[in-house]
Amino acid sequence: MSIQHQILGAAGRDNALLLHINTGQSVDRLLFDCGDGVLAGLPFAEIQRIDHLLFSHLHMDHVGGFDSFFRCTYNRESKPNVIWGPPESARILHHRFQGFRWNLHGETDVVWRVCEVGAEAVTRTRFALREAFAAAYPDGARPFTGTLIEEEAYTVEAIHLEHRGPSLGFLVREPVRRNVDRGKLEALKLPPGPWLKQVKHPAPGQTEIAVNGTRFSVAALQAALLSEAPGDGIAYLTDFLLDDAAMARLVPWLRGCRVLVCESAYRAADADLARQNGHVTTIGAAELARRAGVSRLLLIHLSDRYPPETWPELLDEARAIFPRTEFPRGWGLG
Ligand SMILES: [Zn+2]
Ligand SMILES: [Zn+2]
Repeated sequence: MSIQHQILGAAGRDNALLLHINTGQSVDRLLFDCGDGVLAGLPFAEIQRIDHLLFSHLHMDHVGGFDSFFRCTYNRESKPNVIWGPPESARILHHRFQGFRWNLHGETDVVWRVCEVGAEAVTRTRFALREAFAAAYPDGARPFTGTLIEEEAYTVEAIHLEHRGPSLGFLVREPVRRNVDRGKLEALKLPPGPWLKQVKHPAPGQTEIAVNGTRFSVAALQAALLSEAPGDGIAYLTDFLLDDAAMARLVPWLRGCRVLVCESAYRAADADLARQNGHVTTIGAAELARRAGVSRLLLIHLSDRYPPETWPELLDEARAIFPRTEFPRGWGLG
């Protein structure tokens, strides 16, 4: 199980995050936001394999590349077609779905679902390719619990943020990792062997494990041998007001997160502008990373108001507070 991340888009331009989650059995792909040009470097087949597209919000710099995504996936039958976003996503995406002349698509039974993540509920709307996306059908709702996607190998959580309108932050987490403590195994004088796999992952309903002909209870072996470590976690936070209230909610929410991908649209000196526009400064992002105790901070979404020669100064502002701050590797900016 591993989570690999790739920041899409260039410095000072639209950005997005692509995750490859290797579960051991398969690779799931999650795309967070889809601004102009962010998919340019990705092969057609790679875009076609994206399992979920999740929008933080629907400002143009996060949706402008949607046509490129849809070009590769509009008639996809190999996976469920699911898009997530804040309220109003269905209305806005309905326009995007309808923004083409549809007369060559035949009778394929492809549906798209847009899941709007509200404060109280996740509301689904369904659209059908065979009718040229003419209608938006209500497709059920469930209470918002904080978790959007729950797979065996990972979960995707969302948090509501303020950006002169709703914006969503996302956190992808592995479950807690359970490892056999070798010291405890030696202390019990039990021989290592394949039975240890059953201690970590017992079969459904299994209550006993045989070790050298002796039967032990699964629960007792787990209590005696396993140690737990937090799983990998990566967060994507962009376009939000980072005031005291948001900081107080985000710090505990990010606990255990390894990599924080966070916007830093503004320099520290432009904190007033950042606040007015519902954005984060370099030092705001760094302070959040420091308080949350993440391992690495990746800064994205630099405002195009700053000329490229000043970008290293933005990085330095953040590093003064949180030294393990970086720009995405592909930007070549250190
Ligand atoms: Zn933006
Ligand atoms: Zn925005």
